[in-house]
Amino acid sequence: MSSPILGLHHVTATVDDAQADLDFAAGALALRLVKKTVNFDNPFVYHFYYGTRVGSPGTIWTTFPYGGHGIRRGVVGAGQITATAFSVPAGSSESWRERLDARHLDPIEIDHRFGEPVLALRDPSGLVIELIEAAHDTRDPWPLANVPATQAIRGIHSVTLTSRAAASTRDFMTDVLGFTTDGEEDGRVRMTIGGDGPGHIFDVVAGDGRPPGRNGLGTVHHVAMAVHTEEEQLAIREHLVSLGVMVTPVQDRQYFQSIYFREPGGVLFEVATSAPGFTADESEDALGAQLKLPPWEESKRATIEAGLAVVTLPR
Ligand code: ZN
Repeated sequence: MSSPILGLHHVTATVDDAQADLDFAAGALALRLVKKTVNFDNPFVYHFYYGTRVGSPGTIWTTFPYGGHGIRRGVVGAGQITATAFSVPAGSSESWRERLDARHLDPIEIDHRFGEPVLALRDPSGLVIELIEAAHDTRDPWPLANVPATQAIRGIHSVTLTSRAAASTRDFMTDVLGFTTDGEEDGRVRMTIGGDGPGHIFDVVAGDGRPPGRNGLGTVHHVAMAVHTEEEQLAIREHLVSLGVMVTPVQDRQYFQSIYFREPGGVLFEVATSAPGFTADESEDALGAQLKLPPWEESKRATIEAGLAVVTLPR
């Protein structure tokens, strides 16, 4: 079936310390902090959005640094996104290895995956992050990244979805959301939507023998797919409701509108609109420079700022 889903929108993780997260994502990975805001459900916790130039859908990695807020460590396992891969230029693995080694991030080389070299590492909270050399990724890197353009991240490459019911997950993704199966390698089924290159890829693996995933520090909370319009989002929502899938009402995330639902293998999915994007309340040049609050929290700005950890954006 044809689907209005364009590909990945963002991946959101619960991480530990806010400064360590900035040092990792904006420092080591040289992503741009495109928005510094707060968790809309808990405004005393940051919500960091990282991306390339303006944080276009498919480039966005977002974190809730919950360290020190009484949240336990999570369990990485079945029913979760267990690895998030970023797309890097062909031939850049060696320079990435040197850069990450120098920061004691100890990347390990995994053999090729679907023909592309993979470097894997862990973020400071234990999340599995991968850098995959993509021969064909036309997305522009952030020109001001503190790595050369021949090395800089182009956006998200793919996610690894570890399912509690892999066959049901694949059927749901195919029949309900419109994904295509693109291949299989070592028990990993590659599914794509809105294209077949980086930014469009979900690799589904069976979670047999793995513990059930549990939310907490060091786990991915959800993965979001992008649609152009609110009408398309509502059509997907109505379709899900008609199938008996529990789905949230549309939620205003300030930079996009969102709905959330769980696929049959346990992973929390979101469908988010492309608009209005991160330039809704800051100019492109100033993205990430200041703490932005949603309008309904502005009156509490002084209290919120006093309760947030002081952090510095790495240069
Ligand atoms: Zn989200």
